[in-house]
Amino acid sequence: MNTEQNPNNQSPTFINKDTPVLVTGATGYVAGQLIKLLLEQGTQVHAAVRDPSKVSKLKFLNQLADTLPGSITYFKADLLDSGSYLEAMQGCELVYHTASPFSLDIQDPQRDLIDPALKGTQNVLQSANQCASVKRVVLTSSVAAVMADNTDIADAKGDHFTEADWNERSSLEHGPYLYSKTLAEREAWKIAGSQTQWDLVVINPSLVIGPGINPHATSESFKLIKQMGDGTMRMGAPRYAMGMVDVREVATAHLKAGFNQSASGRHILSAQNTDLFEAASLLKDKYPNYPLPPMPAPKCLIMIVGPWVDKTMTREMIKRNVDIPIKLDNSKSINQLGINYRPLKTSLEDMFAQLIESGQIKKR
Ligand code: NAP
Repeated sequence: MNTEQNPNNQSPTFINKDTPVLVTGATGYVAGQLIKLLLEQGTQVHAAVRDPSKVSKLKFLNQLADTLPGSITYFKADLLDSGSYLEAMQGCELVYHTASPFSLDIQDPQRDLIDPALKGTQNVLQSANQCASVKRVVLTSSVAAVMADNTDIADAKGDHFTEADWNERSSLEHGPYLYSKTLAEREAWKIAGSQTQWDLVVINPSLVIGPGINPHATSESFKLIKQMGDGTMRMGAPRYAMGMVDVREVATAHLKAGFNQSASGRHILSAQNTDLFEAASLLKDKYPNYPLPPMPAPKCLIMIVGPWVDKTMTREMIKRNVDIPIKLDNSKSINQLGINYRPLKTSLEDMFAQLIESGQIKKR
């Protein structure tokens, strides 16, 4: 599939900054920093959330709306409730579709990941087809839709994974979250290609880190970085290779993908290729008194204990990703969206500081 040649992207973009902008999954970690940027530039945000009556989930968004020039109006919508985003979309020229479950600890991968990701994307994009004001949709996909495992580099089109690569190997059994993101993004390109009213721009972040607007965000990102400092990895951390990117750069990329006329296709967002042990080690200078992993955990040991400690860590995943470097090419995001990545150390330190301040990580 050649997503770089979306014919709809030839038309001039046009987003009128005075029209409302829809953000699905507004309560999420990534969406929070995006909404902050939108509010800073004075946008009327239509925030689609599962339950607007749960005011505790909206507290941090409301605090931003109280102090920044833009405004927020909440709408009730669910990925699995067909047509439920239509009301929130009325009058919007730009739609950000960020909502999708990001959880590795699930009971039923079809029900808990695939259905909301895939049917939710169909739901939102089919509503865009019915809403004449919509001119552009920005989808929050993932590098999960670019590659399944680090060993896939052997099949990649170049010596690094680029926007031309697709995850061809994840499945319900092997990496179901990655599979959900792949199916959802493929479906988004299919729906985009079947109409001419709006164009699609996609953001493909690696592991998103850095402070959220809500210090108690439930995204897997928070769980993972918390585990680096709460003693879970006190015996060692795997050299599980992955890319990492600051949530503030991911939000900026969404903003530019929405409003820059020339933005098109997919965009890998990743500040640095690293691994869990290396990333945790970057915290040692500033946080020497926290139970950070002291050494890399040997692959053979992780093969034995990994699946017992964490049921999402299968032997197949360990075999294909631990001690195998990742190679993500972020040059399109720099050259075409103008992203200026901050150092990974800064992102990790800022996130760690937030976890300490909110009482989620304590000194040894
Ligand atoms: P998050 O904080 O868990 O946000 C997920 C959002 O999706 C929440 O607002 C959640 O609503 C909403 N959602 C889930 N199921 C829904 C449903 N059935 N109906 C309506 N809304 C539903 O995770 P995140 O890290 O911000 O992820 C946001 C997006 O970025 C996702 O598409 C994710 O795949 C993508 N992404 C994340 C990362 C990362 O490392 N964090 C990396 C690459 C891509 P509730 O608050 O009601 O649960």
